Amino acid sequence: MPLLEVEELSVHYGAIRAVDGISLTVDEGEVVALIGANGAGKTTTLRAISRLVPCQGRLRFAGRDITPLRPHQVAALGVVHVPEGRGVFPRLTVMENLELATWNRRRDREGIRRDLRRVFDLFPRLEERAHQPASTLSGGEQQMLAIGRALMMRGRLLLLDEPSMGLAPLLVREIFQVIEAIRRTGTTILLVEQNAHAALRLADRSYVLETGRIVLQGPAEQVAGDPRVQEAYLGA
Ligand code: ATP
Repeated sequence: MPLLEVEELSVHYGAIRAVDGISLTVDEGEVVALIGANGAGKTTTLRAISRLVPCQGRLRFAGRDITPLRPHQVAALGVVHVPEGRGVFPRLTVMENLELATWNRRRDREGIRRDLRRVFDLFPRLEERAHQPASTLSGGEQQMLAIGRALMMRGRLLLLDEPSMGLAPLLVREIFQVIEAIRRTGTTILLVEQNAHAALRLADRSYVLETGRIVLQGPAEQVAGDPRVQEAYLGA
Protein backbone atom coordinates (compact mmCIF):
# COMPACT_ATOMS: atom_id res chain seq x y z
CA MET A 1 0.00 0.00 0.00
CA PRO A 2 1.45 3.40 -0.95
CA LEU A 3 1.89 5.92 1.86
CA LEU A 4 0.20 8.58 -0.27
CA GLU A 5 -2.36 7.91 -2.97
CA VAL A 6 -3.72 10.71 -5.12
CA GLU A 7 -6.56 9.65 -7.37
CA GLU A 8 -8.09 11.75 -10.12
CA LEU A 9 -7.29 15.00 -8.31
CA SER A 10 -8.69 18.21 -9.78
CA VAL A 11 -8.46 21.75 -8.47
CA HIS A 12 -10.21 24.72 -10.04
CA TYR A 13 -9.67 28.37 -9.32
CA GLY A 14 -12.82 29.84 -10.84
CA ALA A 15 -12.56 29.00 -14.51
CA ILE A 16 -8.90 27.99 -14.27
CA ARG A 17 -8.20 24.27 -14.08
CA ALA A 18 -4.95 24.33 -12.15
CA VAL A 19 -4.92 20.55 -11.65
CA ASP A 20 -6.85 18.39 -14.05
CA GLY A 21 -7.45 14.83 -12.93
CA ILE A 22 -4.00 13.67 -11.86
CA SER A 23 -3.18 10.41 -10.10
CA LEU A 24 0.05 9.65 -8.33
CA THR A 25 1.45 7.55 -5.51
CA VAL A 26 4.33 7.87 -3.09
CA ASP A 27 5.60 4.74 -1.33
CA GLU A 28 7.02 4.72 2.17
CA GLY A 29 10.69 5.74 2.09
CA GLU A 30 10.56 7.05 -1.46
CA VAL A 31 11.58 10.44 -2.79
CA VAL A 32 9.24 11.44 -5.59
CA ALA A 33 9.87 14.57 -7.65
CA LEU A 34 7.06 16.54 -9.23
CA ILE A 35 8.55 18.65 -11.97
CA GLY A 36 7.10 21.03 -14.53
CA ALA A 37 7.16 24.58 -15.81
CA ASN A 38 5.75 27.70 -14.12
CA GLY A 39 2.04 27.39 -13.52
CA ALA A 40 1.90 23.67 -14.26
CA GLY A 41 0.01 23.05 -11.03
CA LYS A 42 2.78 21.73 -8.77
CA THR A 43 2.14 24.02 -5.80
CA THR A 44 -1.59 23.54 -6.14
CA THR A 45 -1.13 19.76 -5.97
CA LEU A 46 0.75 20.06 -2.67
CA ARG A 47 -1.83 22.50 -1.31
CA ALA A 48 -4.59 20.06 -2.20
CA ILE A 49 -2.81 17.18 -0.42
CA SER A 50 -2.49 19.38 2.70
CA ARG A 51 -6.20 20.20 2.24
CA LEU A 52 -5.51 23.92 1.92
CA VAL A 53 -7.61 24.19 -1.24
CA PRO A 54 -10.94 22.57 -2.17
CA CYS A 55 -10.52 19.73 -4.64
CA GLN A 56 -12.21 16.87 -6.41
CA GLY A 57 -10.90 13.34 -6.40
CA ARG A 58 -9.59 11.15 -3.63
CA LEU A 59 -6.57 11.54 -1.34
CA ARG A 60 -5.41 8.68 0.87
CA PHE A 61 -2.63 8.78 3.43
CA ALA A 62 -1.51 5.53 5.07
CA GLY A 63 -4.69 3.93 3.79
CA ARG A 64 -6.94 6.58 5.29
CA ASP A 65 -9.18 8.87 3.26
CA ILE A 66 -7.92 12.37 4.07
CA THR A 67 -10.06 14.16 1.48
CA PRO A 68 -12.65 15.33 4.03
CA LEU A 69 -10.07 16.41 6.65
CA ARG A 70 -9.05 19.91 7.67
CA PRO A 71 -5.43 21.04 7.24
CA HIS A 72 -4.52 20.66 10.94
CA GLN A 73 -5.93 17.13 10.94
CA VAL A 74 -3.81 16.16 7.96
CA ALA A 75 -0.77 17.69 9.66
CA ALA A 76 -1.53 15.74 12.83
CA LEU A 77 -1.34 12.51 10.82
CA GLY A 78 2.26 13.35 9.92
CA VAL A 79 1.98 15.19 6.62
CA VAL A 80 4.35 18.14 6.91
CA HIS A 81 4.16 20.86 4.28
CA VAL A 82 7.10 23.21 3.73
CA PRO A 83 5.53 25.86 1.52
CA GLU A 84 7.13 27.90 -1.20
CA GLY A 85 8.39 31.07 0.43
CA ARG A 86 9.31 29.14 3.56
CA GLY A 87 6.61 29.89 6.11
CA VAL A 88 8.75 30.67 9.14
CA PHE A 89 7.64 33.12 11.83
CA PRO A 90 9.76 36.21 11.12
CA ARG A 91 9.52 37.86 14.57
CA LEU A 92 10.32 34.72 16.51
CA THR A 93 13.87 33.56 17.03
CA VAL A 94 15.29 30.53 15.29
CA MET A 95 14.96 28.56 18.53
CA GLU A 96 11.36 29.67 19.05
CA ASN A 97 10.50 28.68 15.49
CA LEU A 98 11.92 25.21 16.09
CA GLU A 99 10.27 24.83 19.49
CA LEU A 100 6.87 25.85 18.14
CA ALA A 101 7.07 22.94 15.73
CA THR A 102 6.95 20.56 18.71
CA TRP A 103 3.78 21.96 20.28
CA ASN A 104 1.95 18.66 19.94
CA ARG A 105 4.50 16.72 22.00
CA ARG A 106 5.57 19.23 24.62
CA ARG A 107 6.17 16.57 27.28
CA ASP A 108 8.65 14.64 25.18
CA ARG A 109 11.62 16.69 26.43
CA GLU A 110 14.21 14.04 25.65
CA GLY A 111 12.92 13.48 22.11
CA ILE A 112 12.76 17.20 21.44
CA ARG A 113 16.32 17.67 22.67
CA ARG A 114 17.52 14.91 20.34
CA ASP A 115 15.65 16.33 17.36
CA LEU A 116 17.05 19.79 18.04
CA ARG A 117 20.55 18.29 18.09
CA ARG A 118 19.87 16.60 14.76
CA VAL A 119 18.64 19.84 13.17
CA PHE A 120 21.66 21.76 14.46
CA ASP A 121 23.99 19.02 13.19
CA LEU A 122 22.42 19.31 9.74
CA PHE A 123 22.46 23.11 9.86
CA PRO A 124 25.27 24.43 12.11
CA ARG A 125 24.42 27.89 10.89
CA LEU A 126 21.05 27.73 12.62
CA GLU A 127 22.71 26.91 15.92
CA GLU A 128 24.96 29.96 15.61
CA ARG A 129 21.87 32.06 15.00
CA ALA A 130 19.57 30.34 17.48
CA HIS A 131 18.64 33.55 19.28
CA GLN A 132 18.22 35.82 16.27
CA PRO A 133 14.78 36.66 14.89
CA ALA A 134 14.08 34.58 11.78
CA SER A 135 13.57 37.79 9.80
CA THR A 136 17.31 38.50 10.09
CA LEU A 137 18.26 35.24 8.36
CA SER A 138 19.26 35.11 4.71
CA GLY A 139 16.94 33.42 2.24
CA GLY A 140 18.93 30.23 2.33
CA GLU A 141 19.05 30.21 6.11
CA GLN A 142 15.28 30.71 6.27
CA GLN A 143 14.93 27.73 3.96
CA MET A 144 17.11 25.72 6.35
CA LEU A 145 14.91 26.83 9.23
CA ALA A 146 11.77 25.80 7.36
CA ILE A 147 13.23 22.34 6.75
CA GLY A 148 14.42 22.22 10.36
CA ARG A 149 10.88 22.97 11.54
CA ALA A 150 9.57 20.18 9.33
CA LEU A 151 12.05 17.75 10.90
CA MET A 152 11.03 18.83 14.42
CA MET A 153 7.45 17.97 13.47
CA ARG A 154 8.59 14.39 12.83
CA GLY A 155 6.58 14.03 9.68
CA ARG A 156 6.01 10.73 7.95
CA LEU A 157 5.62 12.54 4.67
CA LEU A 158 7.40 15.75 3.80
CA LEU A 159 5.88 17.96 1.10
CA LEU A 160 8.69 20.23 -0.05
CA ASP A 161 7.76 23.10 -2.35
CA GLU A 162 10.66 24.55 -4.33
CA PRO A 163 13.27 24.30 -1.58
CA SER A 164 15.92 25.70 -3.92
CA MET A 165 13.96 28.72 -5.06
CA GLY A 166 15.87 31.97 -5.01
CA LEU A 167 19.02 30.43 -3.62
CA ALA A 168 22.56 30.93 -4.88
CA PRO A 169 24.02 27.85 -6.62
CA LEU A 170 26.22 26.97 -3.67
CA LEU A 171 23.24 27.00 -1.31
CA VAL A 172 21.16 25.00 -3.76
CA ARG A 173 23.75 22.26 -3.55
CA GLU A 174 23.72 22.50 0.23
CA ILE A 175 19.93 22.26 0.44
CA PHE A 176 19.92 19.20 -1.81
CA GLN A 177 22.58 17.59 0.36
CA VAL A 178 20.32 18.15 3.33
CA ILE A 179 17.34 16.63 1.54
CA GLU A 180 19.57 13.66 0.75
CA ALA A 181 20.44 13.41 4.45
CA ILE A 182 16.76 13.53 5.36
CA ARG A 183 15.94 10.79 2.87
CA ARG A 184 18.61 8.60 4.47
CA THR A 185 16.72 8.81 7.74
CA GLY A 186 13.87 7.05 5.95
CA THR A 187 11.54 10.04 5.66
CA THR A 188 9.26 9.92 2.65
CA ILE A 189 9.41 13.03 0.47
CA LEU A 190 7.26 14.52 -2.27
CA LEU A 191 9.43 17.22 -3.80
CA VAL A 192 8.26 20.00 -6.09
CA GLU A 193 11.09 21.60 -8.05
CA GLN A 194 11.80 23.75 -11.03
CA ASN A 195 15.41 22.69 -10.73
CA ALA A 196 14.73 19.46 -12.61
CA HIS A 197 18.42 18.51 -12.78
CA ALA A 198 18.90 18.39 -9.03
CA ALA A 199 15.46 16.94 -8.33
CA LEU A 200 15.90 14.06 -10.76
CA ARG A 201 19.33 13.25 -9.43
CA LEU A 202 17.91 12.88 -5.94
CA ALA A 203 14.53 11.28 -6.60
CA ASP A 204 13.59 7.63 -7.01
CA ARG A 205 10.65 8.40 -9.27
CA SER A 206 9.24 11.43 -10.97
CA TYR A 207 6.05 12.83 -12.46
CA VAL A 208 6.11 15.58 -15.07
CA LEU A 209 3.22 18.01 -14.89
CA GLU A 210 2.10 20.18 -17.80
CA THR A 211 -0.89 22.51 -17.51
CA GLY A 212 -2.46 20.45 -14.77
CA ARG A 213 -1.87 17.01 -16.27
CA ILE A 214 0.73 14.33 -15.84
CA VAL A 215 2.42 13.88 -19.19
CA LEU A 216 5.22 11.57 -18.14
CA GLN A 217 6.10 9.39 -15.17
CA GLY A 218 8.62 6.76 -14.21
CA PRO A 219 11.92 6.08 -12.49
CA ALA A 220 13.83 9.37 -12.17
CA GLU A 221 16.65 8.11 -14.36
CA GLN A 222 14.25 7.21 -17.13
CA VAL A 223 12.42 10.55 -16.90
CA ALA A 224 15.77 12.39 -16.97
CA GLY A 225 16.66 10.46 -20.13
CA ASP A 226 13.44 11.29 -21.95
CA PRO A 227 14.13 13.57 -24.93
CA ARG A 228 11.10 15.77 -24.17
CA VAL A 229 12.29 16.33 -20.60
CA GLN A 230 15.83 16.97 -21.75
CA GLU A 231 14.63 19.59 -24.15
CA ALA A 232 12.04 21.29 -21.94
CA TYR A 233 13.59 21.07 -18.47
CA LEU A 234 17.20 20.00 -18.66
CA GLY A 235 18.36 22.47 -21.25
CA ALA A 236 19.69 19.80 -23.59
P1 ATP B 1 5.27 27.72 -10.12
O1 ATP B 1 6.39 26.82 -10.39
O2 ATP B 1 5.30 28.98 -10.95
O3 ATP B 1 5.02 27.99 -8.66
P2 ATP B 1 3.18 25.73 -10.16
O4 ATP B 1 3.41 24.58 -11.05
O5 ATP B 1 3.43 25.52 -8.72
O6 ATP B 1 3.96 26.98 -10.69
P3 ATP B 1 0.56 26.57 -9.39
O7 ATP B 1 1.04 27.62 -8.46
O8 ATP B 1 0.00 25.35 -8.84
O9 ATP B 1 1.69 26.19 -10.41
O10 ATP B 1 -0.51 27.25 -10.35
C1 ATP B 1 -1.25 26.53 -11.32
C2 ATP B 1 -2.22 27.47 -12.03
O11 ATP B 1 -3.23 27.91 -11.12
C3 ATP B 1 -1.57 28.73 -12.57
O12 ATP B 1 -2.18 29.03 -13.80
C4 ATP B 1 -1.91 29.78 -11.53
O13 ATP B 1 -1.97 31.06 -12.11
C5 ATP B 1 -3.24 29.33 -11.04
N1 ATP B 1 -3.48 29.69 -9.64
C6 ATP B 1 -2.75 29.30 -8.58
N2 ATP B 1 -3.24 29.78 -7.43
C7 ATP B 1 -4.34 30.52 -7.77
C8 ATP B 1 -5.31 31.28 -7.03
N3 ATP B 1 -5.25 31.36 -5.70
N4 ATP B 1 -6.28 31.89 -7.74
C9 ATP B 1 -6.35 31.80 -9.08
N5 ATP B 1 -5.47 31.09 -9.83
C10 ATP B 1 -4.48 30.45 -9.19
